[in-house]
Amino acid sequence: MKLIDPCNRHLNYLRISITDRCNLKCLYCVPRDQIARLSHKDILTYEEILRLVKIGVKLGITKLRVTGGEPLVRKGVYGFLSELSRIDGLADLSLTTNGVSLKDNLTRIKSAGIKRINISLDTLKRNKFHKITGLDLFDQVWRGIEMARDMGFHPIKLNIVALNGINDDELKDMARLSFDNPFYIRFIEYMPIGDSQMGNGPLLLAPEIKKRISELGQLIPVRNSINDGPAQRYRFAGARGEVGFIHALSHHFCDRCNRLRLTASGKLRPCLLSDHHEDIKGPLREGRTDDELAEIFFKAVRHKPSDHNLAAGNPLRVCGQMHAIGG
Ligand code: SAM
Repeated sequence: MKLIDPCNRHLNYLRISITDRCNLKCLYCVPRDQIARLSHKDILTYEEILRLVKIGVKLGITKLRVTGGEPLVRKGVYGFLSELSRIDGLADLSLTTNGVSLKDNLTRIKSAGIKRINISLDTLKRNKFHKITGLDLFDQVWRGIEMARDMGFHPIKLNIVALNGINDDELKDMARLSFDNPFYIRFIEYMPIGDSQMGNGPLLLAPEIKKRISELGQLIPVRNSINDGPAQRYRFAGARGEVGFIHALSHHFCDRCNRLRLTASGKLRPCLLSDHHEDIKGPLREGRTDDELAEIFFKAVRHKPSDHNLAAGNPLRVCGQMHAIGG
């Protein structure tokens, strides 16, 4: 039995948030003060996650992303990544990070079996990086990105959350990075999730971003491959890398969504943009069998909404915090 939801979507992609903690406080992700943190006992242990992943793989999960919070701040993460990469049946294992710890740990990440990394980078300006993230670490993150490129990680996706009045003046500079670097630049529409420091101003949506960066040259569509996410992909003629748009608000891609999320606190969440979840940590710690835990996967999948209700200009917000759910 595989994870197929009532809309006949095959869920084969699990994103795991291994911690709700982060060493940055990006203004679109978390409130700057007083973030309630999960206590150690409330977070799934690595052994628990590995058991759930093995169950998921038997149910058809083939693609896995480790995220957070910031995954690289959790103690023991490199050993955990190695264990994950040894699980039979996983075709794709990747990592999303803010890049702060990359520089000194790339060899460990590579030895652990990770080939693909997504790195969040919302600006190319040091002062603005400080303003967005709360820390003056642009140079360190950029060095990590260059080193990852030089070590042959591929693809390296750079995730940019497009923010009106904050980084909208840099969209073309970001896109231009794809000319000489094999980077995949991903422009992400800001999603109203949890408490953050973002106001309610107008959102910068993918069609507008695309229009602005088209001034650099013709955007040639790139065909999506089977393991691809929802990004609309393009390449400038002669460029080494790509640009792409994640248009979660302006153009829902729910009909193609193949994702399930496991949060740091052990909840299975069938949709990022809906607060419905199934607790799997409780049953796991009560000693349920693999078959009983598999049934919780099926229950989550049965509740995957056909579509999410968020749209630009719509006052709805998702209550869960992005850093705990895992972006
Ligand atoms: N700490 C890691 C990082 O910074 O990449 C992983 C966790 S972070 C929550 C995962 C991704 O979610 C990042 O690319 C981040 O930019 C994105 N993200 C966070 N809050 C968001 C929001 N409100 N709207 C859109 N993307 C968001």
